[in-house]
Order: sequence, then structure tokens, then C-alpha cells
Amino acid sequence: MKHTNSLLNLKTLAKRYARANRIPQHHALDLVAVELKFSHWPALMQASKDDWQVTPEDLAVTEVFLQKTLPNFHVQHEDGEAIKSRFEGIEPVEEGKIGGHSYKMMETLGDVYLTGEGWSIHVSEAPHAPPRVEIAKQSNSSNPINDSDFLQDALQIAQTRSEQIRARIASDWPRRSTKPDAEGKVRHPLGHGLSDKWFCLHCDALITGQQIADSLWHCPACHASPLDIFETAFWLSDDDEQPESIQTSNIGKNIEPKIEVVDTRFKLELNEKNITLLIRSALLEDATNTSERLGALLAAISVDEENDVSIVFDEDLWPEGKDPIQALAVADLLGIEIDQALTCMTAPFAWPGLGEYTSSTHEYTKMLLDAYANQGTVRNSG
Ligand SMILES: [Zn+2]
Repeated sequence: MKHTNSLLNLKTLAKRYARANRIPQHHALDLVAVELKFSHWPALMQASKDDWQVTPEDLAVTEVFLQKTLPNFHVQHEDGEAIKSRFEGIEPVEEGKIGGHSYKMMETLGDVYLTGEGWSIHVSEAPHAPPRVEIAKQSNSSNPINDSDFLQDALQIAQTRSEQIRARIASDWPRRSTKPDAEGKVRHPLGHGLSDKWFCLHCDALITGQQIADSLWHCPACHASPLDIFETAFWLSDDDEQPESIQTSNIGKNIEPKIEVVDTRFKLELNEKNITLLIRSALLEDATNTSERLGALLAAISVDEENDVSIVFDEDLWPEGKDPIQALAVADLLGIEIDQALTCMTAPFAWPGLGEYTSSTHEYTKMLLDAYANQGTVRNSG
């Protein structure tokens, strides 16, 4: 990606963040700059004029940083009440009732969320993207979203708000971004280029100026955001399949709501990271002194494809023949096997046996300091 595009993407991320959180744009730009180790945005701009460049890692870091502070709208909770609770902490822009059932409306990044007990509706900023309706699997027949009149009313409310947001966005953009000139050329609202042909980085579609303006710079085919729309398909080589035009008659054909029943219960993820965490926690319980506790912390735990565990202990920090009772019990609950081995590792401190005389880290540290002092060695604070 070109240097100027990267900088522009960084700026766009900050802008979207500012818009979503209703904070001044310069504040969001400063936040991004600080995340990338600059004192503020002007310092970052200055550096980019010299030799500093935005790397893909910088963009990824920024994206993660900005997402962390945004709400997670995917269903994660266990019942109808909980489907509402994931929006907690987000100030609703509107609250109301449809046929006696309460709803709240939230906005973020140009998208609208309408939510009530056991249901939520998401209308994207992309004009041709179908609304998504989520119904909690655990909710019962009293869930009003199952009533088609209620659903239509709720969709109408969300879509009306979405139209207002789109109008507001369009009015913030240069006129040439939403209205093609006599030759059908439009200007990218985020600054790069004026053309009558545009390309989607996501699906390689070839989009006319009129089409991209009509769809508010989201890809009419795959609904990718304006960030993914470019003047040239620079990512394609001559050998690649060339972009295909979108038939205007196909645009917006499929905007029936997508209704999804979601299992909102918590799911236990038994992946390598989580199994390792449980086993190490159990090993810490099995440790009866400081030395063994260090052994538990430093043991190499690996998990194979069947989720069976292999633990390699440092022979200086874990007694030979000592069964990790708690770890074995946890493995038993999870239905997995544990394979143990001892090996010679590099213990972090001299006299690893010292830790066998105490279970207090404080006392152990004191013993260590004394022992090092007696040997005439010096603490290295570096
Ligand atoms: Zn696309």
C-alpha cells in the first residue's frame, strides 16, 4: 500500500472513532498518535514528512486500539435480558415502545442498532446491505420480534434513523463525492482521486461513479467500506481475473432482512491457551514450596491436536516422581491425558534448592539476597 494511503487510512480510522464517540477529531488523531509513540498528531505528521512511514503493523495496532474501546455487539450472553445488556454503557440515542415492548436505539460508526428483550436489529451504514435481525435462541414465544408486524415496525424505526445518518454523512462530504460531474466522475470522500471508475479491494468489483456515489461509497456488491474503494485495482496483476462491472439492476435487490437465531449461551473454549491456563493454575496448587511454585510457573506446557497435554518440568524446580494431583484432576474433568517429563532447564537463580525451605516468596527472596551477598556477587538492576 502506498505511503500516502496508509497515512490516510490512519486518519480515517481516527475520524470514524471520533464520529462514533462524539469527540473532537483532533482529540482522536492525538489518541492515535500517542498509541504510535508520538506526543501528538502534529508530531506524527512532521515525522511522516521526514522519513517515518505508517507500516501495516501500525495500522493493525491502531485498529485494535480503537476497537478495544468500542462495544462488542455480537451476542455473547445467555438470555433475552442479556441480549440487551451487551449495549450497557452505550448511551442510547432514543428509547421508546412498540406495542408495549420497550426498545433502545444506539449508533456507532454510522451503524444503527435497535434492541429489546431477546432481539436486536443492526442496520449498516452501507445503503444496500440487508438489515440483520438477531433473535436469542433462549428466548421464549413471548419474544415480540416473532410477530411480523412488530418486526416491520422495528425495522422501519431503525431504517429511518439510518437514512438520517446517511444524509448527515453525505452532507459532510464534498459535493463531488455524491454527485457525479458531466463525465460521470466522482471524488473519493476521503481524499484519494477523481474518477468515473472505482474498484473494491474486497470483491474486485468494477463500480461506476454513479453507482459508488449512490451507495455512499460502500461497495454495492459486498458492502465493503469507503476505505476499501480505490481508483485503480493496484492489487491485481495481469494474470489475475480482471474486475467485472456491477449491473445496476442487481444493486439493492437483496435487502430483505437476514434473520438469525443465535445461541446466546456462554461457550467454553477448550483451546490450547485456555487448557494451558487451567493446568498451570492447578500446578500452582500442587506446588508446596517456593521452588515448586517457580517450577509450576516455568513448566513448558503444550497441548496437542487431541487436546492432550504434555508438561515438561525443570528438574531443579520440580521433584522427580511428584504427581501433580490437582493438574491430573483437572485433566480428568476435561477428559484429556497428561504426559509428564523432567528436563534440565536454566533455573532463574542459583541454588534452586533454596526454594524448598519456604513457601513464602518474601522469605525466599531474603534467602536469595543473603546467599548472593555471601558469595560476594552483585545485584544487577539492568
Ligand atoms: Zn466489494
